[in-house]
Amino acid sequence: MQQQPLRIGILGGGFGGLYTALRLNELVWDGPRPEIVLIDKSDRFVFSPLLYELVTGEMQAWEVAPPYEELLANTGVTLIKDEITGIDVESQTVQLAARSPLKCDRLILALGGNTRPSDIPGVKEHALPFRTLTDAHRLQQRLRHLEQSDREEIRVVIVGGGYTGVELGCKLADRLGKRGRIRLVDRGSEILKGSPDFNREAAKQALSDRQIWLDFDTEIEAVQAEAITLLYKGQVDTISADLVLWTVGTAVGELIQNLPLPKTAQGRVQVEPTLQVPGFPTFFALGDATDCTDATGQLLPATGQVALQQADFCGWNVWASLNDRPLLPFRYQPLGEMLSLGVDAATLTGLGLKLTGSPAYLARRLAYLYRLPTLQHQLTVGLNWLTRPLLKGLVQNN
Ligand SMILES: Cc1cc2nc3c(=O)[nH]c(=O)nc-3n(C[C@H](O)[C@H](O)[C@H](O)COP(=O)(O)OP(=O)(O)OC[C@H]3O[C@@H](n4cnc5c(N)ncnc54)[C@H](O)[C@@H]3O)c2cc1C
Repeated sequence: MQQQPLRIGILGGGFGGLYTALRLNELVWDGPRPEIVLIDKSDRFVFSPLLYELVTGEMQAWEVAPPYEELLANTGVTLIKDEITGIDVESQTVQLAARSPLKCDRLILALGGNTRPSDIPGVKEHALPFRTLTDAHRLQQRLRHLEQSDREEIRVVIVGGGYTGVELGCKLADRLGKRGRIRLVDRGSEILKGSPDFNREAAKQALSDRQIWLDFDTEIEAVQAEAITLLYKGQVDTISADLVLWTVGTAVGELIQNLPLPKTAQGRVQVEPTLQVPGFPTFFALGDATDCTDATGQLLPATGQVALQQADFCGWNVWASLNDRPLLPFRYQPLGEMLSLGVDAATLTGLGLKLTGSPAYLARRLAYLYRLPTLQHQLTVGLNWLTRPLLKGLVQNN
């Protein structure tokens, strides 16, 4: 009787999951090649650091969010587009919304996080998150609607002075131009906590150049259809807002919170430096859904940069666990930090470099081009970046 091949189930096709699948696909197997199955509820991978470029039209959806089918064509990876509704940890079986359960020999949990839910009145109904392609499309729709209205001013309140709030604020200011009235609200006393000083100063300058108002030490009391209520030093104030954007924090979903795996108080799955879940040697996890210290003991931030580097190790370690080889402890190499600060502007600190303005913009673009999944996608996007300005020029001259 012919033996069924082993099956590796990768749950989630984001930075952690997709890049692990691509890594596993490259490796040479001692015995029969296992089936590599990637499961995601969406049909597109989202390169989230470039999601802001959709707001300004600097990039198109196919560049930032290519379909998995395209990325996985010519690979041995099987794609299942379905929602994972549960995981039986003991039997390593994945429950799916529209298909029969899938039993796997190795499981890789890479389901990422969601925008942290809030019980502040009106947030769920009226504030827009900015995390997924759907969020970006919904924002574009709202902006188009507001831009086509006869409003003299378009008042935007962004809640959260972290990376998303700052980057989104600058892009929105550039898109809305003179009509834009943008406020960034944060309960703390500065933007970009934990960021290198150079980047924070560049961001402050970019916000100030765009006349983005900063409200620090301010809590949100409620969000209404066309207003937001703020609390500052005991004083409550309701101001008009055509658009409220909610960019506050990441939380893991209920599915992960309910798993009988070792977790942190915040519900993140604990992993060893080998990216195995303690006590579950055939269960690997990476990315935003996890809490990981690397081989040197440093606690890792929930970023794409970490998930991407983990994917390399995760792919290797899953392969090693099936080929009787030693597993490698993950070592994180911080490569620095890049932020977009409006159209054609950015700031960058890392690898001995400190750049702002157009040089940072160019370096950021090239770094992300290099990081896009698959050589084919890198080439198509790169070619588009080269030819688009030429085509634009030709159209303008005719
Ligand atoms: C707007 C924005 C900008 C960012 N910019 C940067 C940046 O500049 N630099 C940086 O390092 N990091 C950045 N990040 C953070 C980075 O995107 C995350 O840290 C990274 O995506 C985490 O990777 P992950 O694989 O854990 O999760 P994700 O990339 O979020 O992938 C999770 C995947 O799981 C799928 N999924 C979830 N639940 C289910 C389910 N029940 N069933 C099936 N599929 C499911 C999702 O569809 C998704 O494809 C940014 C994030 C955002 C939102």
